[in-house]
Amino acid sequence: MASKVLDVEGRRIQVRGTVQGVGFRPWVYRLAVEEGLSGRVRNDPQGVTIEAFGPREALEAFGKRLRAEAPPAARLVEVREEDLPAEPPIDFTIVSSAADGARQVSIPPDLATCPECLREVRDAGDRRHLYPFTNCTHCGPRYTIARDVPYDRPATTMAGFAMCPDCGGEYGDPADRRFHAQPVACPDCGPRLRLRDAAGGPVADGGDALVVAAAELAQGTIVAVKGLGGYHLACDATSPEAVRRLRERKKRDEKPFAVMVGGLDGARALADLGTTEERLLDSVERPIVLVPRRPSSGLAAEVAPGNPQVGLILAYTPLHHLLLEAAGRPLVMTSGNLSEEPMAAKDEEALARLAGIADLFLVHDREIENRCDDSVARVIAARPTVLRRSRGYVPRAVRLRRPVRRPVLACGANLKNTFCLARGDEAWLGPHVGDLDNLEATRAFEEQVERLQRFLGIRPEVIAYDRHPDYASTRYALARPEAVKVAVQHHHAHVASAMGEHGLEGPVLGLAWDGTGYGTDGTAWGGELLLVRDGGFERLATLRPLRLAGSDEAIRQVWRIALAALDDAFDGAPPLDRLRLFDAVPARHVAVVRQLAAKGLCSPLAHGAGRYFDALGALGLVRPRATYEGQVALEWNLVADGEDAGSYPFVLEEEEGLVRADLRPLVRAAVEDLLGGVAAGRVSARFHEGMADVAAALVRRAAAGCGRWPVVLTGGCFQNARLAEGVLRRLERDFDVRLHGEVPPGDGGIALGQALVAEAVAG
Ligand SMILES: [Zn+2]
Ligand SMILES: [Zn+2]
Ligand SMILES: [Zn+2]
Repeated sequence: MASKVLDVEGRRIQVRGTVQGVGFRPWVYRLAVEEGLSGRVRNDPQGVTIEAFGPREALEAFGKRLRAEAPPAARLVEVREEDLPAEPPIDFTIVSSAADGARQVSIPPDLATCPECLREVRDAGDRRHLYPFTNCTHCGPRYTIARDVPYDRPATTMAGFAMCPDCGGEYGDPADRRFHAQPVACPDCGPRLRLRDAAGGPVADGGDALVVAAAELAQGTIVAVKGLGGYHLACDATSPEAVRRLRERKKRDEKPFAVMVGGLDGARALADLGTTEERLLDSVERPIVLVPRRPSSGLAAEVAPGNPQVGLILAYTPLHHLLLEAAGRPLVMTSGNLSEEPMAAKDEEALARLAGIADLFLVHDREIENRCDDSVARVIAARPTVLRRSRGYVPRAVRLRRPVRRPVLACGANLKNTFCLARGDEAWLGPHVGDLDNLEATRAFEEQVERLQRFLGIRPEVIAYDRHPDYASTRYALARPEAVKVAVQHHHAHVASAMGEHGLEGPVLGLAWDGTGYGTDGTAWGGELLLVRDGGFERLATLRPLRLAGSDEAIRQVWRIALAALDDAFDGAPPLDRLRLFDAVPARHVAVVRQLAAKGLCSPLAHGAGRYFDALGALGLVRPRATYEGQVALEWNLVADGEDAGSYPFVLEEEEGLVRADLRPLVRAAVEDLLGGVAAGRVSARFHEGMADVAAALVRRAAAGCGRWPVVLTGGCFQNARLAEGVLRRLERDFDVRLHGEVPPGDGGIALGQALVAEAVAG
């Protein structure tokens, strides 16, 4: 017996990463028990610490399995092991957070249903058979049901559901998969499903509600479905009539709808997927992933008119799985709102706002506390890129290389708004709020800011905001009581956000290409190459500007941008009569817009790279108007066809140290092609190659003057995979080029950069 004790060794294992609130400790407990180890596991401020005791082989097996088999939502960034004196306790225990005085465990993001829960839901012998609210420590709602911290059941919208003895037993058993799973529930004690008509009247209850809703969906009915972070509007994605009806009622002409399928097999039937796309679709975050649609998909063309791509999302709650299985077809799952408004999350709100859109409401009595839209992602240069960072990611922190010295709130941009709170070496981007042009969204913004501040226990001392005086987020920032406020130039913030994501301290050559952002010289910027360091920036290069007649109006009426580019490229005498775009534009409108531009009335100079995409897209696609912001640029990207199409020319010029790419030769060459009958797809391909050439030339020219610093590609234009990959290909041999990953390249990622600049300036 004595010699046995001598064989026992001790080891301390520290695990860093996302390991709290994801079922990591119960899983460690089970692993330790399986390997016959004693010891303890506890949360600590950086992650989880394990002290394990047992024979060397068992400890080694434990260490290996710890790295290889971690629960799906856990992210192990670092695992450090060190020897401990062998003082083994008699068993293995989970030390509670309160007992060891660790910092409050933050609220984790929502997690897609895990395979084990799904198996139970499908198992006729299981007590959770067909139960749509099944979850465990590996999966289920988190952030969206949290009312307060610490994240415990009484502080969630599950507070009103008293656990039955069976659920209570699971919740209290460290060996159980549901140990301390706050939203644990079953058909006896948990939330219940209801189906109501548009007037709120009862249609069916419980399992029947699901069966009736699925049958109605199959008949073409539009059903509002209460999900995790808000209401969706669902309909049969294979029915042109159903999708058309949804478009009419939602007043959404052409913006693509997301399509939900049960699993990867369903996704493969609809789209051509690469391995990175499959991994992204199947991740616990479950974003909508933009993928190339199969011609034989059977999806109604109305799902994404004129668009060869489709946004797919895999079911992420048992309710979704059951609904899809019963309906037997892919379903449109789009945000439950009228165009541009925030997604409805509260029941009364949803009934009121969606009454004219949905025929039926599939609802339940687990409240959604925090609205959180679906996230959107795509693969660029073989890597996942998050375009809209919300459900599944929020409120996971972005880790900062250098801690901020004082807590910061950054208020974000106006479109696709998200905000950011930073403290220590962590930065939290809030959920997608949307466009702050409407009152609902502005109210939602303020509410979300206050909420996340409370959840994280942060009192900001520094407030960062965009320089644009008319942004609602700017007005909010200026009205805050804090003393220290820092205005951050839009493209500087874009570059700093990419730097923050990659832990780059600068100097960095930041290529920030987007539609528009407030410059420091009264013009709209957006084709910028900035040298960024020490909280400041130097503007090294930009694009020749266009005069946007009617300012924001031109962004919808893209023919105006095309006219500006043509008048500039052809010295005021472009061949309008031979360009098909201008068949659709009355001559008097052209005259009025030219007058506006000539007088400089409400016609700012715009350097945005995105404007050239708009201009050429309008010409090439014969599209005078966009029905949503960025539509023409997006479609212009999607038609690009052919690899070795060649590219269009441009000229670099320099004035007072600022390099400017003159794109007039490019515009002229594209017009010549269009007039010569070259297909739009080919013109678009040459345009993309030309723009990638411009980007690379600007970077090389700048590097010759200031050094070969790392390059970041940021701004909404770099959601365009063809452009991003083209620039990367041209530069990667000579430069360290970084693209965005988990932080969006567009304005949804800008708040992180604002926070970091403000920290450097005012920290
Ligand atoms: Zn589960
Ligand atoms: Zn129960
Ligand atoms: Zn921007």
